[in-house]
Amino acid sequence: MYPATYYAQTRSDPTTRPALQGAADTNTVIVGGGLAGLTTALELAREGLAVTVLESQSIGFGASGRNGGIVSPAFACGSDAITARVGPDKARALHRLTIEGVQRLRSHIQTLNIPQAEPVAGLLNLRRFDQASDLHAEAEAFERDFGYTFTYLDRPAIQERLQTTRYLHGLEDPQAFHIHPLNYLRALAAEVERLGGKIYEQSPAIGCHLGPQKCLRTPNGQVTAKRAIFATGGYTGPLIPRLKCAVLPIATYMMVSKPAPELLAKAIKTRAAVLDDRRASDYYRLVENGQRLLWGGRITTRAGSPQAVAADLRRAMLDVYPQLAPLQTDLAWSGLMGYARHLMPQIGQMQPDVWHITAFGGHGLNTTAIAGKVLAEAILGQSNRIDLFAPFGLAYAGGPIGLAIAQLTYWSLQAQDHWRERRR
Ligand SMILES: Cc1cc2nc3c(=O)[nH]c(=O)nc-3n(C[C@H](O)[C@H](O)[C@H](O)COP(=O)(O)OP(=O)(O)OC[C@H]3O[C@@H](n4cnc5c(N)ncnc54)[C@H](O)[C@@H]3O)c2cc1C
Repeated sequence: MYPATYYAQTRSDPTTRPALQGAADTNTVIVGGGLAGLTTALELAREGLAVTVLESQSIGFGASGRNGGIVSPAFACGSDAITARVGPDKARALHRLTIEGVQRLRSHIQTLNIPQAEPVAGLLNLRRFDQASDLHAEAEAFERDFGYTFTYLDRPAIQERLQTTRYLHGLEDPQAFHIHPLNYLRALAAEVERLGGKIYEQSPAIGCHLGPQKCLRTPNGQVTAKRAIFATGGYTGPLIPRLKCAVLPIATYMMVSKPAPELLAKAIKTRAAVLDDRRASDYYRLVENGQRLLWGGRITTRAGSPQAVAADLRRAMLDVYPQLAPLQTDLAWSGLMGYARHLMPQIGQMQPDVWHITAFGGHGLNTTAIAGKVLAEAILGQSNRIDLFAPFGLAYAGGPIGLAIAQLTYWSLQAQDHWRERRR
């Protein structure tokens, strides 16, 4: 079962999968059927390993089937914080991985022929206050360090694309793109099965024994395996206390409009996705060839009702596009992102043959695509690229105090964003 989201309502593949019944044996059991779990399953299955995925609800029930669909380089953690922790060389190597993640996701769409992922090119990353020097410096650094090109946009260039006075500067990223994330994910699931993998839905792992042989128990069955991988994101429960303590579940929100192509065309003239560079940013994109608008933003540590937050998202939308006042909201929903205290993904080995791949925060499309590859390489002894993530271990995230700090930090960043704009 899926929550009522735009993606669930427009998914192209109606397949449902059975729950695990009785005993099963496999090489690698993966707990969690989101992007992290299925990307890892795909990479291992391609190398000939027998994989079994346990998903407590339906494939893509979590953040992976509810997100903004924007695929662009970077981690949820800012590059300055990464550099401060690991130094410039490793920070650059990590950033290179995020670019590779974008390319890998694109190549999955191409090689697996997933037109229903509806990839659309382009991302505008825009600024609401008057400062451009650092944007030029950032574009130059990306060109120099990664051969990655951003195009600077001034206000008139932005207004050719967007009928609003809110944005003053921006960077256009023509290599980024946006997709229907649930259709993409479900195609990955189909490919895992084509390669011989097994996927069970409605099969929460509710108990485990992680001795030399791993055994995962579900309400009506159990899987034994050589290896276990935990990929439970913001939906991580108490099964592995150490993992639960290391991940904070943070809620964020989206809404989709009713069809209104003429009205939307008066505001948004680009098919590229748009986001602003505030720490508490809005992001949005037209879907169905300009028929509807998908709009996301806001973060809370206690899941608010999507309806209440839809009013908040709508206020944010009208602040940028007052001309969209007649636009009606069709649906709103929330999803949980997993965040580590250090804001970086956690990818590593908890004990022999017990691995974790989690905490991708609000930047999970490209990062799961490369993390699954890097984890598979580590398991198969093909590379040690996973060592780049060693400084970002399963640090205690602070429990309820960590959540309170996260909420206060968000409010303080919101206030700083507001203050910077007021000075313009
Ligand atoms: C509203 C929203 C918008 C976002 N927008 C973007 C965006 O535009 N671009 C971007 O890059 N990222 C975005 N993100 C972030 C991105 O979606 C996530 O980082 C990514 O999907 C995380 O994938 P995951 O597999 O780690 O977690 P999830 O997709 O949450 O998957 C975890 C799965 O584990 C299952 N599970 C948990 N416990 C068990 C158990 N015991 N047994 C079996 N199964 C279990 C859950 O049911 C769930 O399906 C957004 C997130 C949200 C919520």
